[in-house]
Amino acid sequence: MSTLFLRTLREDPVDAEVVSHKLLVRAGYVRRAAPGIYSWLPLGYRVLRKVEQIVREEMDAIGAQEVHFPALLPREPYEATNRWTEYGPNLFRVKDRKEGDYLLGPTHEEMFTLLVKDLYSSYKDLPLSLYQIQTKYRDEQRPRAGILRGREFVMKDSYSFDISDEAFKASYDAHRAAYIKIFDRLGLDYVIVAAMSGAMGGSASEEFLANAASGEDTYVRSPGGYAANVEAVVTPVPPPVPYDDAPEAHVEDTPDTPTIETLVGHLNERFPRVDRPWSAADTLKNVLVMLRHPDGTREPLAIGVPGDREIDEKRLTAQVEPATVEPFGDDDFRAHPLLAKGYIGPGVLGEKNASGIRFLVDPRVVDGTRWVTGADQAGRHVLDLVAGRDFTPDGTIEAAEVRAGDPAPDGSGPLELARGIEMGHIFQLGRKYSEALGLQVLDENGKLVTVTMGSYGVGVSRAVAAIVENSHDEQGIVWPREVSPADVHLVATGKDEAVFAAAGELADELERSGVTVLYDDRRGVSPGVKFKDSELVGVPTIVVVGRGLADGLVEVKDRRTGERTEIPLAEAVGHLRSVVLRS
Ligand code: ATP
Ligand code: MG
Repeated sequence: MSTLFLRTLREDPVDAEVVSHKLLVRAGYVRRAAPGIYSWLPLGYRVLRKVEQIVREEMDAIGAQEVHFPALLPREPYEATNRWTEYGPNLFRVKDRKEGDYLLGPTHEEMFTLLVKDLYSSYKDLPLSLYQIQTKYRDEQRPRAGILRGREFVMKDSYSFDISDEAFKASYDAHRAAYIKIFDRLGLDYVIVAAMSGAMGGSASEEFLANAASGEDTYVRSPGGYAANVEAVVTPVPPPVPYDDAPEAHVEDTPDTPTIETLVGHLNERFPRVDRPWSAADTLKNVLVMLRHPDGTREPLAIGVPGDREIDEKRLTAQVEPATVEPFGDDDFRAHPLLAKGYIGPGVLGEKNASGIRFLVDPRVVDGTRWVTGADQAGRHVLDLVAGRDFTPDGTIEAAEVRAGDPAPDGSGPLELARGIEMGHIFQLGRKYSEALGLQVLDENGKLVTVTMGSYGVGVSRAVAAIVENSHDEQGIVWPREVSPADVHLVATGKDEAVFAAAGELADELERSGVTVLYDDRRGVSPGVKFKDSELVGVPTIVVVGRGLADGLVEVKDRRTGERTEIPLAEAVGHLRSVVLRS
C-alpha cells in the first residue's frame, strides 16, 4: 500500500502547455528539474514502470532479448557512421577529464550493430532481435510539451538482424504485431500510418500515432483506408499537358505585385482571361530557403510551388534531412543580387542558370503546365511560361502543404487531416549501419553477406503523457486499469478515528489479496478536497470509507462513469477483487 503523495505537494509552475502535463504535474506524477528534464515522483514512477513492463512483455513474447547499453557512449562508432556530425545540435556531447569525446545516446544503432558484429559470424545466428528500455538524450529545440518531448526520456529501442530482405520482413511483421498489442494494452486511441524512413533509407516504414489534438504530427487518412504521416504523403503526379497551342512566354509589367494576392488582382484587372478569372493556382511561387548541412556549410535552395499552396516546413525538413532549413535572410539576398525579391522566377534559378541555385519544384509542375511567375526584375512577371519548354527545374520536391480534400495517392478518395502524437516507429534500416560498421556473416554457401537491419522505437515516457492526453476529463486523469498507479484509491473521510482504523484495515486486506491500494489517510483535510484529489489522480476505482461506516457500508465509485454503489464493508475485498480482475 502506498499513501498519497499529494500531502506534501507544493505548487509547481507548469512549464508546458499540453493538458497531460498540467494534470501530471498537478497530481504529483512528475516534476520539472530543468527544461525538458523531469523527475518521476512515486505515482508517476509506478505508471512509468507499468508501461515499461507491458512493452517488455510484448517484446519478450516475439523472442526479442533485452540488453542494456550505457547511455554515455564513446565518439568513435558514431564517427564511423557520420552521426557524430549528422546529428547536429540535438546531440549532447561531453568531454571526459582527458578531453576525450563522448556523447549521451540519442538512439543506439551503432552499439547494437557492433555488439552483434562482436558476437556472431554465421547465418545460423540469425534472425536476431535485441532491445533495451533506456534513457535517451536529445537536446530538442522546443521541449515545451512536458514529458511528451523531453530532452531526457525513456525509449524502448529494438533492432532486428536478418540475412536477407525477405527474412527481415518476418522480423518487421513480428514487431508490428507486438506494437499493436502494446498500444492496445496501453489503452491508447491510435492509428498506424505510412511514414518516411528519412535519411535512414529502406522502404518499409510505419508510425503508430496516438490521436490527440495536441499532437505535433499531422497525418492524413482517406475513406478508402489510406493513412500516412503528412511528411510521407506522395503527391499524385498529373499527366503531362500538351502545349502545342501555348502562346510564347511574355514578360509584362506588374507593378507593386510582390505577393500572390496582389499579383492575382493585377492579372484579373489588366490581363483578364476569357475562360475564367486568374487564381493563385495559376502562379508559380518561388521560395528561397537556406539549407544548413551537418558540417556547417550553407546551401541556398529555391522551391517552386503553385501559388495557392504554402511550403510545409515539416515536409520540407523531412526531405532535406540531415540538413536543416533556415530562412533566407536579407544578407543572403544581398549576396545573390540576381534574385529580385518578390519577383523571383525560373529565369535565373537552377544549377545551370545564372544564379546557380538549385531549383526544385512541386510534383504538380509537370511538363506543359503554364505559369505566371517572376521575371527576375522588380515589378515584372512572365506569363505563359511553360514547364518543359521554357524552363527545366533540377528536380521535384515534396514540400508543399497537403490540404484536406487533396486526392489520396492510391486513389482511395479525398484526404482528411488529423493530429497525432508519435508513439512508435518501425522501419527498415537496411544496410546503412551494417555497412558502415562492417557487420557481415557467412551465408549457407560460405559467402560473406552484409546483415540487413530493422529499427523499432517506442516512446515509453512519452506514452505516460499520451495516455493522459487520450484519457482525462474536466476533473483530472482517468487511467486505463493496466497502467494505473494503483487498483484502488481508498479515501477515508471525517474525524472519526474508527473510520481511519477500518480504512487502514481494509487497505491491508486488499493488498494481501493482491489489490494494490493508494490510501488517502490525511487527517484534517475536508472530504471535498479528498474527492477532488481522487478524481485528479485518476485511479479507476475509488472507495470511500466515511459516514456509511456506521451502517457497515462503504462507497465504491467508478472514476470513468462516475457510477456509485454502496456495499457492505465485509464484502468489500471480494467485490473489489472481482472489479479489478474483471476489467
Ligand atoms: P519525433 O518526431 O516526435 O521527434 P523521432 O522521429 O525523433 O520522434 P525516433 O527517433 O523514431 O523518434 O524515436 C522513437 C520513439 O521515441 C518515438 O516514436 C517517440 O515515441 C519517442 N521519442 C522521440 N523523441 C522523444 C522525446 N524528445 N521525448 C520523448 N519521447 C521521444
Ligand atoms: Mg525527434
